[in-house]
Amino acid sequence: MHEVWSDSTSGFHPASAPDYLPEPQLRELQLRRLKAVVRRCYDNVPLFRQRMDATNMRPDDVQSLDDLSRLPFTQKCDLRDTYPFGLFASPLSEVVRVHASSGTTGKPIVVAYTKEDLDVWTEVIVRCFAACGMHSGDIVQNAYGYGLFTGGLGAHYGAEALGATVIPVSGGNTDRQIMILRDFGVTAICCTPSYFIHLIERAKETGAGLRDLPLRVGVFGAEPWTEEMRAHIQKEAGIEAFDIFGLTEIIGPGVGIECRAHNGLHIFEDHFLPEIVDPESGTPRRDGEEGELVLTTLSKKAMPMIRYRTHDITRIKTGHCSCGRTIRRIERIARRSDDMLIIRGVNLFPSQIETVLLSIEGTTPHYQIIITRDKGLDQLEVQVEVTHELFSDTIGGLEQLRSRISHQLEIMTGLRMEVSLVAPRTIQRSEGKAKRVKDLRNAT
Ligand code: ADP
Ligand code: ZN
Repeated sequence: MHEVWSDSTSGFHPASAPDYLPEPQLRELQLRRLKAVVRRCYDNVPLFRQRMDATNMRPDDVQSLDDLSRLPFTQKCDLRDTYPFGLFASPLSEVVRVHASSGTTGKPIVVAYTKEDLDVWTEVIVRCFAACGMHSGDIVQNAYGYGLFTGGLGAHYGAEALGATVIPVSGGNTDRQIMILRDFGVTAICCTPSYFIHLIERAKETGAGLRDLPLRVGVFGAEPWTEEMRAHIQKEAGIEAFDIFGLTEIIGPGVGIECRAHNGLHIFEDHFLPEIVDPESGTPRRDGEEGELVLTTLSKKAMPMIRYRTHDITRIKTGHCSCGRTIRRIERIARRSDDMLIIRGVNLFPSQIETVLLSIEGTTPHYQIIITRDKGLDQLEVQVEVTHELFSDTIGGLEQLRSRISHQLEIMTGLRMEVSLVAPRTIQRSEGKAKRVKDLRNAT
């Protein structure tokens, strides 16, 4: 068995990927890599060494995969505190690429890749695309943003290595995206699900529906989306939509993806070891139990992460997938432990609102949640765009729809909220991750 599985454009055999390793072999590979990465961090990353020393642990104490739970966690603030290069485990001379997260809340976090790290990244993206049924000959429109954001370049090299034809269009310029989709015979597209909804809508307006194009596959990620959103996308665009997951700290996109069974996301656990922990106490939870996803990179060189707290809430699915892959799956990520809103003492996740809105005929998938505080009391308003047809309906018709939405939202969330129906195209569109929540409580 090769330490790092590699593909070549001419001889790509998805069935030989580590996705299908017999479980004992997979666990053995993970343990071997875990020992090596802990050693690497201990020897090269002062913060990690201090934390290990503080618990009197030595790299040699890692003797089984269960010992993982004895290792210290890494948090986003650790990346900020050591900004920019403090967690690198390789000398800069071996670092061939850096990326950074957007840094909308303070300094960006910076991550690094050696040449080998880039090979691993390419490999996992190839495995992602293969899981979506893509192959050489596909024409891939990569509408993830290129630049410091990991989405664009990450998907780019994987698609090339698969042997597909890549159109590196990056995000934005929606009319040009639609022109390319149509003129170049694009068969697969990568972008955020919210941006794709925008493309669908714009294509409709310009009279160029997407259903009649050769477009077959959509690879959507970087933000949470729902089953309802998938149904909408698949119906409107006539494609098969896949959920891809990743985060900058771990590698970027390509940590996991759905296969064609669409029953959870396979994690490439020969490179990224998943655990689920209690989001409050950090205590490990068993497969099948919900909690916070914690990831350890098993093969990264320039900036390995040991037990990185993602804040993403999911569970590891038990049982085997019908596709035959042995690597485990997580449930789609609908929420983060830190995006939970507490409204008048009730916990609310934006995904609950999306689920309701998309199940009601006449609304579009564009909405915004606005939270304010009035005399110490939280006020919640949901602005929902309605379709052209409905917007020109009678006042009575609109009012009926409004009260239906409001009623359904209350059943789903236990919260009364104000619902405003707004005209088509009033809510701002995003080219990358959608910003659905405006929390103005501290501003009012
Ligand atoms: P990326 O550059 O890959 O988008 P970021 O670091 O900007 O990475 O964001 C990572 C976060 O985005 C994840 O921790 C998760 O909260 C969210 N995310 C990424 N992909 C998905 C997905 N498919 N479903 C839900 N959330 C996702
Ligand atoms: Zn599967």
